Amino acid sequence: MFSQTQKQFIEEGDLAIVWLGKGKLTPIVLNSTETLHNQFGAYPHSELIGKRYGQQIASSSKQGFIYLLHPTPELWTLALPHRTQIVYTPDVSAIVQKLRIVEGSRVIEAGTGSGSMTHALSRTIGPTGKLYTFEYHETRYQTALKEFTDHKMMEDVGGNTVLTHRDVCKQGFVLKESSPEDIHSVFLDLPAPWEAIEHLGPCLRKNGGTRICCFSPCMEQVQRTVQSLRENKWTEIQMIRLDHKLWMARKTRDMDIEEALDRLRFVKRKRLDGLERRRQRQLQENNTADDDSSETQTTVVEEPRAPSPTLPATNKRIREGDEAYNWINVCKLESEVKSHTSYLLFALHLPSANEQNTAEVVSAEKESD
Ligand code: SAM
Repeated sequence: MFSQTQKQFIEEGDLAIVWLGKGKLTPIVLNSTETLHNQFGAYPHSELIGKRYGQQIASSSKQGFIYLLHPTPELWTLALPHRTQIVYTPDVSAIVQKLRIVEGSRVIEAGTGSGSMTHALSRTIGPTGKLYTFEYHETRYQTALKEFTDHKMMEDVGGNTVLTHRDVCKQGFVLKESSPEDIHSVFLDLPAPWEAIEHLGPCLRKNGGTRICCFSPCMEQVQRTVQSLRENKWTEIQMIRLDHKLWMARKTRDMDIEEALDRLRFVKRKRLDGLERRRQRQLQENNTADDDSSETQTTVVEEPRAPSPTLPATNKRIREGDEAYNWINVCKLESEVKSHTSYLLFALHLPSANEQNTAEVVSAEKESD
């Protein structure tokens, strides 16, 4: 379902991501007996089925529109039901690239949480890879199990993911059947990753390196994790923090100094007028309360103000780029890029010379068999 190939047309039973407006995404499963509603009207699923993914679809009242998008891990991250803090796409892409996760990789993830990272990992490693993900919270585990089964990610429905209900800090990563071995990459998003690191030994590659990333929100956690990585013979320890910023090309008015000063005076005057009006209102309310007992009426009349000679005649909004004015091209920052600031700690584990020799002998024996 979250594979690289995308369907052209919407069908009954499909999971789709509905775009309802800027930053408003929600998942739906198409069922011809149901109807999607929002403030602009109704969208019977029966009218959505058969439409092309990405096509604009008007509500039955024609007062609004939506788009139905084919699910991808990136869209799922923005639409998924949150059960925990999640890893957002800017961090996901840095982690996947630095852990060198590619089609066919064998990966361990703990904890599963809301499954944001799990969807991205499962899609990246493709049908030839294998993802072992661990969650110790019973309800989150059950919810993830249903979700990953519905999304055809679990091994028993033809996917590449093995989800296990387990506390990895106490019980480690070794499984009774089909245990994770020869693991290329490990991703730990846990409150105490240092307690899990010591259990990774049996899963690491004997014939090459294993890379790890620990996602931690505070420096104290990073320090304890570094210590544990060192004790367990991880090398090339490196920490990065991503600062996601979206730069926008915009225009700003090129004003001469007099016009700019007029504008500042106008803004200041508007603010003072507002404060004065509020003060007068307060006075009036107090007087009315006092007069309720004395039954006399005093009205406070607001003094009209003489307009400042330097004020612009109107405060009309000027459209950005209006050709009647001069403009300068500038860069502005979009403040609403979704991410969750954490420290990303990376390291590499290489097998010892002994382990490597043994692995070579074992693989030579296997080949000769
Ligand atoms: N990376 C996930 C995502 O993108 O959706 C979010 C992970 S969430 C921050 C951390 C999860 O780790 C929680 O669901 C928690 O229950 C689980 N967890 C914490 N300690 C654990 C442990 N020792 N073993 C397994 N899971 C654990």
